[in-house]
Amino acid sequence: MDTRVNGQRQGHLGGQPAAIDLPRHTTAEIAALADRFLTPNYRNAPIVFVDGDGPWGITLEGERLLDFSAGVAVNGLGHNHPDLVAALQDQTQKLIHQSNYWHNAHAAPLAQALCQQFTRATGQPARAFFCNSGAEGTEATVKMARRYHAKVLGKPRPGVITVHGSFHGRTYAAMTATAQAKYQDGFEPLVPGFRYGEFGDLASIAALMDETVGAVLIEVVQGEGGVAVPPPGFFKELRKLCDERGVLLCLDEVQTGLGRTGTFFAFEQEGITPDIVWLAKALGGGIPVGAVLAREPVANALVAGSHATTFGANALAMRAGRTVLAIFERDGLVAHTADVGAYLLQQLHAAFDARPYTLDVRGRGLMCGVAVNGDPKKVVDSARDRGLLLSVAGTNVLRLTPPLIVTREHCDLAVARLRAAADAILAPS
Ligand SMILES: *Cc1c(COP(=O)(O)O)cnc(C)c1O
Repeated sequence: MDTRVNGQRQGHLGGQPAAIDLPRHTTAEIAALADRFLTPNYRNAPIVFVDGDGPWGITLEGERLLDFSAGVAVNGLGHNHPDLVAALQDQTQKLIHQSNYWHNAHAAPLAQALCQQFTRATGQPARAFFCNSGAEGTEATVKMARRYHAKVLGKPRPGVITVHGSFHGRTYAAMTATAQAKYQDGFEPLVPGFRYGEFGDLASIAALMDETVGAVLIEVVQGEGGVAVPPPGFFKELRKLCDERGVLLCLDEVQTGLGRTGTFFAFEQEGITPDIVWLAKALGGGIPVGAVLAREPVANALVAGSHATTFGANALAMRAGRTVLAIFERDGLVAHTADVGAYLLQQLHAAFDARPYTLDVRGRGLMCGVAVNGDPKKVVDSARDRGLLLSVAGTNVLRLTPPLIVTREHCDLAVARLRAAADAILAPS
């Protein structure tokens, strides 16, 4: 029996549908509850977001903060994008989840759209595996690479090379791939088979490659490590090295993908084709979605039953991903990101190059960083007090990853607020 009357759902056990009335709390109450009931692994600033409007986050007190962190590069479309909201409202009224025992209407079409992007960028066919996060993408990549060598090529090569300063997520293989001691401390033993070279240093990677190594996992621009841009030609050389040794080149584009650096994939600017590339952050517009794209012989290593996720590829997540891609395409957001990103970097150079505390200004597209001499956390706090949200990357980098919908005016405002904050903390007169 359909529970819809005049197109409206009724409560399944009778009665009218209504939002369940939940207790409301003040900012101080939320902070106290967090202190008492959440595991203490986050240092939450005392702000409660309840609403959003494009690049603006809106607090419980109604304060509007210019959000140049964008939920760590997740909110590519900003908050409350009307077309994404409309699609998610429609989808939640129909089907949220159903499992991978059956098809839903959106997973295969989203795979097609992403694989078309891969083929446009590389000329090669690909297949997609969907998951729910960046770390899950890392896990799937390691499993796919190991299984490809062991079962498709018939010779196990379980060794994985990553580089220092990388970030690939917090689950066990992803944390082991993340070659930074602070993320691994206290969690040993790690997953066996990982070894670490240096970002941008081909010789350091070549020195680690022996017969047991089957894959290199690396970001194109290091995000959490401090917005580290690769030296010219490094990725071309790395591709060549991997080809010579029969090693899979696997690119973590969880942060750089989806136009963030001014091309759909950041690897497009390096002129190379990866064997595996994985995406997450911006793909679902805030709904958790990850995707691993692999060239065909490699992708086929994940045969039926070999790998799976319960939530992955569910109808709501896949509808979100399709809608995000459609909005990107319709609004030319990748080209917009290249344009406004170049402007932001230029304005950052103008504002910071000559400041006594500035070590470096760098970036690609709308992924920018200002390396400073001094405590970047204090600058981030001061910027927040001035109405700007951003994050810290590495040990000393102020990182800007605004939504891709920002205008030059938003960038001007952000640079002015950041300059005022940095001057107040790092160069008090
Ligand atoms: C954020 C990030 C991850 C981890 O993503 P989660 O969704 O937090 O698991 C992995 N790789 C890169 C490059 C990232 O920026």
